[in-house]
Amino acid sequence: MGRVWAGILAALVVATGCSSGGSGGSTTLPEPLPQATGTASPGHLTTIRTRGRVRIGVKFDLPLFGLKDPTTGALSGFDIEIAKGITARLFPSDSKSADRIDFVEAISKNRETLLRSDAVDLVVSTYTINDARKQLVDFAGPYYIAGQDILAKQEDIRSGRIRGVGDVNGKRVCSVTGSTSLTNLRAAAPKVDTSITKDKYSQCFEALKEGKVDAMTTDDAILLGLAQDDPEFAITGNPFHTEPYGVGVPKGDDELRSFVNDALASMEAEGSWTKAFQSTVGATGAIAPTPPAVVRY
Ligand code: GLU
Repeated sequence: MGRVWAGILAALVVATGCSSGGSGGSTTLPEPLPQATGTASPGHLTTIRTRGRVRIGVKFDLPLFGLKDPTTGALSGFDIEIAKGITARLFPSDSKSADRIDFVEAISKNRETLLRSDAVDLVVSTYTINDARKQLVDFAGPYYIAGQDILAKQEDIRSGRIRGVGDVNGKRVCSVTGSTSLTNLRAAAPKVDTSITKDKYSQCFEALKEGKVDAMTTDDAILLGLAQDDPEFAITGNPFHTEPYGVGVPKGDDELRSFVNDALASMEAEGSWTKAFQSTVGATGAIAPTPPAVVRY
């Protein structure tokens, strides 16, 4: 696993003197006031607070980011911690604000539809910010910068058969419908065989383990989570695309987007972002990077 992390850390991590953080979940933010939006219907922020609950789309099958325990139903991962941090600021007077989240599974291809059909209020689901998606939804963030890489059999990587995306033309590589991972793969390796695509990354990993594909591709931290307990597989350590993760918000709701940007910036400033990273992705040995600055547009 040390070999795996050498590449990922080189791509992702700028070591910091990690902040020891603040006082955990407690917050001194003032109780928010509902804001007039100037339109006939209230904005999502007012609706969420009036409802007293927030609906957040996350992954259910990704260790380290969004994983649902099949026995207890509990969710864990960095995206889950980000979702909880935003929720703590939505309901600042409730010390158990996390209980007010209704988590909804948001697989890659469904994220825009979930937001546009008002099935969720926010999406925190390894969701890359890009211009095509900004036609349909808005983004707060970024709150994390991933790099797209390739996961293959350890022996294929060690032997040099698969050193990076340049070596997968003609090979069978699985990725997920509706993801940037699939689009970037096809652009970088035009002769790659993508006849096997799946709805979820866990399904691609199954196909890889069963020998139905030669490799799979997506963001390096996702790959790490899937393969962390399986020494038969490794990541090339040569990421070929940068993937800034944002929180998806309904298009045109500047008040909600700005609120989420403020929440992310305050998590980053007070150290709860670093704590969230350390307790999730950091459990693999990864050092928490400097959080990316929020970009307001
Ligand atoms: N971050 C990429 C994306 O948003 C890949 C991971 C995913 O599909 O969730 O498409």
